[in-house]
Amino acid sequence: MIRIDAVTKRYPDGTVAVDRLSLEIPDRSITVLVGPSGCGKTTTLRMINRMVEPSEGTILLDGKDIQQQPVNTLRRSMGYVIQNAGLFQHRTIVDNIATVPRMLGWGKDKARARARELMERVGLDAALAKRYPYQLSGGQQQRVGVARALAADPPVLLMDEPFSAVDPVVRKGLQDELLRIQDELGKTIVFVTHDIDEAVKLGTMVAVMRTGGHLAQFAPPAELLSH
Ligand code: ADP
Ligand code: ADP
Repeated sequence: MIRIDAVTKRYPDGTVAVDRLSLEIPDRSITVLVGPSGCGKTTTLRMINRMVEPSEGTILLDGKDIQQQPVNTLRRSMGYVIQNAGLFQHRTIVDNIATVPRMLGWGKDKARARARELMERVGLDAALAKRYPYQLSGGQQQRVGVARALAADPPVLLMDEPFSAVDPVVRKGLQDELLRIQDELGKTIVFVTHDIDEAVKLGTMVAVMRTGGHLAQFAPPAELLSH
């Protein structure tokens, strides 16, 4: 379990992005952080993998303070997916996905075999393996981003607006795929979105944040109070 305990983030310019946030993120389910632009969602996500350090408070992963763990070990346990996939433009699809196992010291053939298995897992046609990112549609690129994040089989997936840049029909397909993957693989997923419908559809638990970095509600979708 990831436990965020009274965390505040104040950026050097004085902006308070997150204000005394406490959250218990359950294992093997999808926790969605939702709220308007600027309410501190991305900052919260980035504190979980230490791309951003909290000003106050602690974050525990399975009971251990993440500040006390080597950052590389921590990040190896967390896949990270962003809005425009962030793919390496000069690498083929299969090698984009194989990058992470390669960094972990796997041989080229084994890493590529793993990448092809993941392509199938996220619903990418094997024929796309040797293409480059620019030759894929936006939705396909996001699938590659998800496959790459899964490549080292991390227990945790951090996803920052991963489906926001694709059209609504493709987005629905990606959401369904994520629910299926979560069901099959049982990852602990922290998912950031500004879209309440997406939060309700995907979330096992939904954390509603509001401007100023406050937590307004934390509940399963069916128990969210409308306002
Ligand atoms: P969200 O993901 O909900 O849009 P962010 O976490 O990106 O929110 O930002 C929260 C607040 O912190 C915003 O007011 C934003 O402008 C500010 N902020 C984000 N990053 C920085 C930074 N590096 N320096 C100063 N302020 C920042
Ligand atoms: P979308 O409408 O979802 O953005 P595209 O029209 O971009 O989809 O792509 C449709 C199909 O054509 C996809 O299977 C994609 O892989 C393929 N494709 C797109 N651009 C290229 C390209 N430059 N070379 C080869 N295949 C491409």
